[in-house]
This record gives sequence, structure tokens and C-alpha cells, in this order.
Amino acid sequence: MNTTAASSGPDKPRAALVQGMFWTGIYLALVVAPLIVLLAGTPPASRGFWRELSAALGYAGMAMMGVQFALTARFRHAAAPFGIDMLYYFHRTVSLMAAVIITAHVIILMIIDPRTIALLNILQAPWRARAAVTASAGLFVLLTASLFRQQLGISYEGWRRWHGTLAITAVVLTLVHVELVSHYIETPWKRILWTGYSVFWTGLLVHVRLLRPWSQLRHPYVVESVHCERGNAWTVSIRPERHHRFTFQPGQFAWLTAWNSPFAVEEHPFSFSSSAQQNGRLAFTIKELGDFTRRVRDMVPGQRVYLNGPYGAFSTDRYHAPGYVFIAGGVGITPMMSMLRTLADRNDRTPVHLFYANKQWEEVTFREEIDELKTRLRLSVTHVLEEPPAGWTGESGFVTREVLDRRLPAERRSLEYFVCGPDPMREAVEKALYRLGVPLTQVHVERFNLV
Ligand SMILES: Cc1cc2nc3c(=O)[nH]c(=O)nc-3n(C[C@H](O)[C@H](O)[C@H](O)COP(=O)(O)OP(=O)(O)OC[C@H]3O[C@@H](n4cnc5c(N)ncnc54)[C@H](O)[C@@H]3O)c2cc1C
Repeated sequence: MNTTAASSGPDKPRAALVQGMFWTGIYLALVVAPLIVLLAGTPPASRGFWRELSAALGYAGMAMMGVQFALTARFRHAAAPFGIDMLYYFHRTVSLMAAVIITAHVIILMIIDPRTIALLNILQAPWRARAAVTASAGLFVLLTASLFRQQLGISYEGWRRWHGTLAITAVVLTLVHVELVSHYIETPWKRILWTGYSVFWTGLLVHVRLLRPWSQLRHPYVVESVHCERGNAWTVSIRPERHHRFTFQPGQFAWLTAWNSPFAVEEHPFSFSSSAQQNGRLAFTIKELGDFTRRVRDMVPGQRVYLNGPYGAFSTDRYHAPGYVFIAGGVGITPMMSMLRTLADRNDRTPVHLFYANKQWEEVTFREEIDELKTRLRLSVTHVLEEPPAGWTGESGFVTREVLDRRLPAERRSLEYFVCGPDPMREAVEKALYRLGVPLTQVHVERFNLV
């Protein structure tokens, strides 16, 4: 953990770039590994260009699907250079690419040999085809449910449970399909390599579903207090129960499990709102929204909860700058609050410009504390209210290019920007900053909706 933002130094982004390249290399190696198995040594007798192309596409699509587990396994070191949200977006994009590649694998086979179409009848097809057809069907259900979850009215928890089950089933059936077709893995060492690859995927699953929850179970946290904030939000303070100190970078988040064991699939991501300097004390500020967040007010001191984290690259600790700009909408203030509190605790005098958008003045979460922080930081605050009270002389409406242009200092292009809020606001702010000439590499975004 860094001690001051200023001391984080300009070498941090470079280190992140190197780490990013390293993990990208590992990812590509894992994706091409099955193709190497396929091509290595003496290849089996060729069955013609199109059939071989189809096989190569099948292997590539399968490898991409298998490595999907690694993308969402939340390995902290691998996720650090990118940020978890980017990994989830990448996961989603790769799924679509893999689906296209797998479809091409099947369609090519059907075109070069129309008898293949009969294999779609899983009641009469041989087992190798049954496995492939069922895996593909599972994959398409999984993709449709992921792309249209909200339109289909599927709850997040229900979707997540089925997503995991279908993904595991699809990959296992694909492995069975490769095993039964067995064309490219006939030699003993290829079989060993292939088995190693399959064991790796299984190991990932065991890690995510069993080992990590087990570790969380052994390192519980207890609720110390729950108190109400402006804006229909609750701050839950927790501390580790009889174990290690927990450190994080301000702006990061963790998955929280409450009223459940870590083996249950229900866990929710929340940004820390507390200072990263508070030895072992942690707080989340949670806005009431749905089933889980509406129950937060019922948490009681002494209640046991579990954490998986910290995660995220949205932190001032990662970027050395002559000044920071925080642009928050509603509960998107939480990571900014953690950064503000941390900068104050570190007596950091780096200038910070906060733009904070809310509907009404009465619902501005942390309003009083932000005002008080002006005495401890070089902090300027611009509240932007959608429905300002009578006599309001500040900014009203939304955080537009004009508002930013009016309030940002002249050296705006050298600052680092952190944006967190509802999607429409985030998108509008990103566009506005771009039009104001702020380099995109200096704009960091936290998304509160991963799916
Ligand atoms: C990185 C990150 C940091 C966040 N930080 C905060 C914060 O500091 N304060 C805060 O109030 N909210 C935060 N959120 C949002 C918070 O996670 C959701 O509001 C919460 O999980 C909703 O759960 P629910 O059951 O009450 O609502 P639901 O009505 O079930 O869900 C509402 C929406 O929230 C999302 N969601 C629901 N469950 C999950 C889940 N288990 N994992 C991921 N997304 C889910 C889905 O998009 C869903 O459509 C953060 C989200 C992310 C991704």
C-alpha cells in the first residue's frame, strides 16, 4: 500500500503497463495453448483444409471459453493493471467472439458435409455430437441471458447462479466432445498436455468455488456500527475479527457477503468509503436500491460478514498528478470519499476539485463532512443540483461541458480525473472532458453496474 499519493511517483503507470503486458501475454498463451497442442509434433493425416480450419476454430473457441474462468476468477495481481470492471467487459466481449468462432466451427462442418446437420438430433446422434450440441445450446442460453438479463426480468442473483452452472456444464461437455472425437490428441504426450490443460481449468474452478470461500470463512469481519446518511444510504463500519490488518488503496472496492456463508453465490461489490489510513477499520456506504441494499439498515453490531477484496484500479494512489478532479453522481461519491478522507489523513496538499451531482440538496450524502474537509485539504467543491432549492446560487442541472469549463482551473489538461456515477452521467462527462481536451488516459472511471 502506498503512503502518499504524491510519493506514488510517475513510474506507477509504467509498472502497471508492464504488468498489463505480462498478464496479457499469459492470457494469449492460455488461449493459443490448445492450438499448439493441435499443431505440435506429427499432425494426423489431413482431412482437407476446411475441416482442419473448422477444427482449429473449435479449439480456439473452446480455449477462449475455458480461459473465461480465469478472467473472472478475480486474481488480484492479474486484475490490478486493468481494473475488475475492464476484465468483466473483456470477458463479455470474448464470450461473443468465442460464440462467433464456435458457430463458424459448426457451420463450416455443415457446409462441407451436410450429413453433419443430422448430428443436431441429440436423441440419435453419437455421444461426441450430443456433448457438442448440448454445450453449444448451453452457451447460447448463457449469452442471451447475459446480454438481455434486465429485459428478460432475470434477477442478478438468479442470473449469476445459472451463469456459473451453465458455463461449467458447457466447458465440461466441450472437453468430453474433444476427448470423444480424439482426432488431435491421440499421441500420449499430446494427451498428457491436454489433460494438464483440463486440470488447469478444473483447478481454477476449485480455487474460485472452494478455496477462496474457505479462506474468507476463516477470516471473518464483524459489524461495528450502522448509521444513516443523507440520500437514503447507510454506512456500515466493520473490523477484522481476530485476524490480520486489512489494507486497501482509497477508491478500491470489495465484495461483501452478509447473512450468508462465503460459499453462497450472493455477494455484492461496494467501494470503501473510509480512509485507507485507518488501521483495520473499514466502512462501506450503501444506497438502498434492491433486495440486499434495502436490508443493510437491519445489520446489527457484532454481526459477522465476509469480504473478498480489495480490488480496483480507481485510486489516486496509482496516479501522480499536480491535482485531482473527482466527478461523482449520487452514491458514486463513496470511492471519492475514501480518497478525500485518505488525502486528509495523510496531510496531502495536492489540489482536489470535486464536482458532485445530486437531485436535491437534502439528499447530498456526506454534505457536511465534505464541507469540513475543505479545512483539511486544498479542496474546491462544486455541487450540481438537478432540482435546486429556491435561492440556490450554485450550479444546477447536470455536470455538463459548460459547468466543467467554468469551474476547472487553467491547468486542466495536466490533472487526473476520477468519474463515478450513473451511466448517463458518466458517459456525458467522458464526452465533455474529451471535448475540453483532457487526454483519455487521464480519465479513470468506476462503473457500479458490472452486468
Ligand atoms: C465496483 C462497484 C462498486 C460499488 N460501490 C457501491 C457503493 O459504494 N455503494 C453502493 O450503494 N453501491 C455500490 N455498488 C452498487 C451495488 O453493488 C449494487 O447496488 C448492489 O449490489 C445492488 O444489490 P441489490 O440486491 O440491493 O439490488 P438489485 O435490485 O438486486 O440489483 C440492482 C442492480 O445492481 C447490480 N447488482 C445486483 N447484485 C449485484 C451483485 N451481487 N454484484 C454486482 N452487481 C450487482 C445489477 O446491475 C442489478 O441490476 C457498487 C458496484 C460496483 C460494481
